Amino acid sequence: MASIPVSFEFFPPKTPAGQEKLLLARDELATTQPEFFSVTYGAGGSTQDGTLQTVLALRENGVDTAPHLSCIGASREELCNQLQGYKEKGIKRLVALRGDLPSGMGMGGELRYANELVEFIRQEFDQDFIIEVAAYPEAHPQAPNLDIDIQNFVRKCQAGADSAITQYFFNADAYFYFVDRVRAAGIEIPIIPGIMPITNYTKLARFSDACGAELPRWIRKQLESYGDDSASIIQFGEEVISNLCQQLIEGGAPSLHFYTLNQAKASLAVINNLK
Ligand code: FAD
Repeated sequence: MASIPVSFEFFPPKTPAGQEKLLLARDELATTQPEFFSVTYGAGGSTQDGTLQTVLALRENGVDTAPHLSCIGASREELCNQLQGYKEKGIKRLVALRGDLPSGMGMGGELRYANELVEFIRQEFDQDFIIEVAAYPEAHPQAPNLDIDIQNFVRKCQAGADSAITQYFFNADAYFYFVDRVRAAGIEIPIIPGIMPITNYTKLARFSDACGAELPRWIRKQLESYGDDSASIIQFGEEVISNLCQQLIEGGAPSLHFYTLNQAKASLAVINNLK
């Protein structure tokens, strides 16, 4: 069992080999007795069935598993049917998002922002689901500034979110500042830091640029210097992320949510280092 409550995010695998790896990762990560697993969802159609299938596969060993659900590009009726289907399958927790449509697909949909989705779920399904929402300690990439993004985050909470999971970050101060600002606005729900283990520099740099997570210069420089030496990248990454998690725990983070990329090893190594 982990020394602090943990949860893990997975994505729907695309191949039989990917499915096999997913189930192995599930079993290894289940040994930490996580609070929940969650499964990403492709807005615009790419992995929607995959999300449900993956949720059903992950929860076979008893861990509460939440599908991510995005409202962009979907009608109220489609969302209602999907939520009804989840309810009938005994799903009790959701990660409710606006989402991003693949480029070229425009905006579409009847609900424009996650706060509207949370409000819709509460209207149609009352307290049937525990609702997690996304939070951005370094500001959402489309937000004009952090103040406005915090105001928008507060709207999602006031609409009925139970808990929030953050975008990943490497600077604990950003998280603590965000939590202080949200608490000052009267919001008391848990804000769970999202943790991205470091295992591959190129992918991490590309992903961080796309989602607006700052990869600090000292980390970037060090990872760059290792070139193809993946053992050194993994060792340095484990040290950096373990220190980050330790700082978060000591600063009062309620739990940790790991972006596993369907792999157990890096998250487990960090969890085992925590005091
Ligand atoms: P919102 O909270 O709606 O915010 C989006 C932007 O609009 C922000 O800039 C915000 O400031 C602004 N805004 C919000 N409300 C209003 C309002 N009422 N009026 C005006 N402006 C407003 N993406 C996926 O496609 N699939 C996934 O499975 C997925 N999982 C994720 C899990 C986590 C924990 C996180 C942090 C992100 C995830 N994402 C996922 C990415 C997410 O979909 C994108 O970041 C998306 O651009 C925003 O979604 P949101 O729910 O945060 O949107």
